[in-house]
Amino acid sequence: MLERTDTQGKVLTDEAIKTDVLIIGAGPCGLFAVFELGLLEMKCHLVDILDKIGGQCAELYPEKPIYDIPGIPFITANGLVDALMAQIKPFSPVFHLQEMVETIEKIGDPLFRVTTDLGKVFEAKVVLIAAGGGSFQPKRPPIPGIEVYEEKSVHYSVRKMDGFRGKRLLIVGGGDSALDWTLNLAPIASHLTLLHRRDQFRAAPDSVNKMMALVGEGKIDFVLGQVSGLEGEDGRIAKAIVKRNDGSDFHIACDALLPFFGLTMKLGPVANWGIELKDGELIPVDTAAFESNVPGIFAIGDINWYPGKLKLILSGFHEAALAAQKAHRYVYPDKRLVFQYTTSSTSLQKKLGVR
Ligand SMILES: Cc1cc2nc3c(=O)[nH]c(=O)nc-3n(C[C@H](O)[C@H](O)[C@H](O)COP(=O)(O)OP(=O)(O)OC[C@H]3O[C@@H](n4cnc5c(N)ncnc54)[C@H](O)[C@@H]3O)c2cc1C
Repeated sequence: MLERTDTQGKVLTDEAIKTDVLIIGAGPCGLFAVFELGLLEMKCHLVDILDKIGGQCAELYPEKPIYDIPGIPFITANGLVDALMAQIKPFSPVFHLQEMVETIEKIGDPLFRVTTDLGKVFEAKVVLIAAGGGSFQPKRPPIPGIEVYEEKSVHYSVRKMDGFRGKRLLIVGGGDSALDWTLNLAPIASHLTLLHRRDQFRAAPDSVNKMMALVGEGKIDFVLGQVSGLEGEDGRIAKAIVKRNDGSDFHIACDALLPFFGLTMKLGPVANWGIELKDGELIPVDTAAFESNVPGIFAIGDINWYPGKLKLILSGFHEAALAAQKAHRYVYPDKRLVFQYTTSSTSLQKKLGVR
């Protein structure tokens, strides 16, 4: 019989992986939860659909600067993920990437059986949902045959800016992503054209002004129209056929097409977990512990809702700290939790490996 393995080559058995806390989503909030739970001696496994750690930060804007992480005036999204990974290292979290949590079943009080699409089974005393907007997918523009070029020369996100160095780029769209990447990639591209169907933009006015300044200096082109076809070979684009608003056609020679038509956030299986949802897509929580209507299932970060909620990373960090306090009661029902500072607690410092 063939062995079943996960995406990291680990052999799958029918035996459940036992853990104190199962975290769904390895975005910034799921990562910081490992730290807060770890300080309180709770072990974590994390499952994420993506092939990398970091959620939106890693997938959507890895090289963009973030300016509103408390105490850090400036850090790139990837830099933040790296820093969080360094911070949680003492707690040795176990990651299960490229796996989607499909089902959560309550089997104890509280004890949950969680199953992934690969058939991996976990038994966790606490489930912490940090699933962001769910599984997000870029909207594909209606260009016939575009699938052939995806990955090789059509890119819906910029994972490594350097991959675009010296190339002829065609960026399509009028939102923040299209304008931000136009500004970021212009200095390294051999030629860059921004294409939008009209001369009004949804992007921040400051970005639009900066883009127009580059056009004025002859550093990039801005063209009105829509891509109606692509020509090339073996997944490599040679040119895009562009339809002007008057119906006439022309060609733009390019090596890469970057369409930014927004993202479809698909909640995915979260909707089937028997947890109360607000507007069918967010998990309402109390603001004392960020627990859902199911005791033992917590929701932090972009996925949750409460009055005044701000979808910011710093909100998720705060939520993680409070959720951990309540989770401790489920994992260690007989232990009293004593509030401690990392600056002065020898026991916390030992857990962090700094003493
Ligand atoms: C372009 C852009 C710029 C931004 N700039 C800022 C900023 O400057 N400051 C700021 O504070 N915030 C910013 N944000 C918002 C910030 O990125 C989010 O608030 C943050 O990522 C939320 O973190 P999270 O951990 O809750 O979710 P996410 O980062 O969305 O991570 C959730 C993870 O859960 C996984 N997942 C979902 N469902 C499942 C499932 N069923 N099974 C397994 N895995 C699952 C997903 O694959 C994903 O990796 C920005 C967002 C964007 C798009």
